[in-house]
Amino acid sequence: MDYQAFLPDPANLRVNDAHISPKTVWLEIASTASTCLCPTCGHTAARVHSRYQRVLKDLACFGRRVRLHLGVRRFFCDTASCPQRIFCERLVLAAPRQRLTRRLAQQVACITLEAGAACSARCLALIGQPVSPDTLLRSVPESPDASSGPVRHLGIDDWAWRKGQRYGTILVDLDRHQAIDLLPDREVKTLVSWLQAHPELEIITRDRLGAYQEAATLGAPQALQVADRWHLLKNLWETLERFLQRLHQPLLEVFRKTNPQHRVPVPESSRICPPTPRTQQRFQTIQDLKSLGDSPGQITQRTGFSRVTVRKYLHLKASPGQPPRRRRTRLIDPHREWLTAQWDAGTRNATLV
Ligand SMILES: [Zn+2]
Repeated sequence: MDYQAFLPDPANLRVNDAHISPKTVWLEIASTASTCLCPTCGHTAARVHSRYQRVLKDLACFGRRVRLHLGVRRFFCDTASCPQRIFCERLVLAAPRQRLTRRLAQQVACITLEAGAACSARCLALIGQPVSPDTLLRSVPESPDASSGPVRHLGIDDWAWRKGQRYGTILVDLDRHQAIDLLPDREVKTLVSWLQAHPELEIITRDRLGAYQEAATLGAPQALQVADRWHLLKNLWETLERFLQRLHQPLLEVFRKTNPQHRVPVPESSRICPPTPRTQQRFQTIQDLKSLGDSPGQITQRTGFSRVTVRKYLHLKASPGQPPRRRRTRLIDPHREWLTAQWDAGTRNATLV
């Protein structure tokens, strides 16, 4: 069989040997080029320093994984002015230090952009190309610089490096619906310097964080500040939820009296288990600090709990119970068994790429 036809052309590669197992195709490959261009100075190098082996994952073939065993050389660069003394041979097939061939990396990056890293990792594992979500994220080429161009309408919000501990600021161009910058913190000074570099700003939408209000006023006094719709709706929803939670029992009793023929099923989400000792302790700590006269902000700082937790517990009269744990369901779950069966049966009809 002529395996040479499966390699990209012109690759300057030769297939020396091939081995096919029930799940994998192994190809032994070597470079046929006698020289290589130095990546630093661009001069031709012919003196070989040493050789080593690389194993590359390639596109699957007839339901089998493909692995390439590649004999690669290191060359001396003999150009006197070049700072690079030794370098690794550059190949058409794969970039240096990459474990996937270029064509597989390209395919994987397309899938990751469409489906996200975690979902893509699960799908790729099903078709015999196991790649970790972190590798998938690294495989996505950097998108073109989105920060260029004037910004007239800007959205500002915070994002978590680590929830409850460290936050940054995300800036979104509302006309292009694109994130255009990430700031490392939520400090007024950082945001002011960014805003001052964009005098074309006309409207800023933001949440009600005091630092953002101050920064927008100082950094872009010409811009109109607007409370963004998402936060308005979120605040409204939370207030309404708290209000209805307080009235849950009276409303239920009124409904039972007026509709005696109806049995009201208890939804799973509202079945409550007793509070855990940890929840009980948190609730007590927050209530103690409240009785000492601390503000919600001071309680957040002193305890390290999130603002949401502190606000929630401050409004409660007793420690909240825990909803029962629910297993997270995924879209692929109903089909997982079928896909696995297809793969195991060796039909390989489940190929998605
Ligand atoms: Zn060189």
